[in-house]
Amino acid sequence: MKSLRDTAQEAVANYKAIGHFNISNREGFNAVCLAAQKKNAPVIIGLSEGEREFLGLDIVVRMVQEARETYQIPLYLNADHTHSLKAVYEAVQAGCDAVLFDGTGMSWEENIEQTKKAREYIDAYNKKQGTDVLLEAEVGYIGSGSVIFEDLPKGVSLDDASLTTPQQAETFVKETGVDLFAPAVGNVHGMYKNKKNPELDTKRIGQIVEQIDAHLVLHGGSGIDDTNMKDAIKAGIGIVHVSTELRITWKEGIEEAFGKGELAPYKVAAYAQKKMQDVIETKLALYGWN
Ligand SMILES: [Zn+2]
Repeated sequence: MKSLRDTAQEAVANYKAIGHFNISNREGFNAVCLAAQKKNAPVIIGLSEGEREFLGLDIVVRMVQEARETYQIPLYLNADHTHSLKAVYEAVQAGCDAVLFDGTGMSWEENIEQTKKAREYIDAYNKKQGTDVLLEAEVGYIGSGSVIFEDLPKGVSLDDASLTTPQQAETFVKETGVDLFAPAVGNVHGMYKNKKNPELDTKRIGQIVEQIDAHLVLHGGSGIDDTNMKDAIKAGIGIVHVSTELRITWKEGIEEAFGKGELAPYKVAAYAQKKMQDVIETKLALYGWN
């Protein structure tokens, strides 16, 4: 299997993006694998710290290794939103393909300083193990939950001054040497209850791409207008994160199953799995995998 670095490089060169889907349970895992197999697309499974704790990171690492063989798909595992260096080290040692060190709650200086420490650790690990674990960093606050909201989450601002500038991106990536960079370009974690999410600043995405030697990751990929998403990928987004839409879809599937009187957990879960698989397939097609 190709490394995530090469897969991302190839995707971006072809104006495609790799889908990153967060999972919390077995039906989510199955849905990602089956959709990837059907669309013949590389995919990343994302696990937040909470999802890791619930599922057991070591177990998911094994599941991913098995699924690569079973489904014959380029399947990668990302330790999403990791808030401490200790948790970064644990994720790397467990066998994740990439780790996001999330220093968005820190000052600019502290985010850089801590990200550099994560970089040093991962470089040493890769050298020793012969692996190519990637490091991602995030700059700019875009909210923190895969939730449904009626107003933008507290602390999130989409005015020009709050978005990541190409200059900031350049400085941050140069200082830290990250492989993947997640900017604030109009994206928000979570999605609006009754309307589409705010428009992504695709011009800014293009400008950032010009300035940095790292792939751009779009967080908050739920609820965005399809044309806007396509333009963002054309502008250079290499990985798109989706979580909230899958959670909503899971809930609908479970409710439908209960509504039909299903009781066996695997039968209930199968409703959710099928619906999630459909959503993932649609997303992968939108990201360029047909
Ligand atoms: Zn995120």
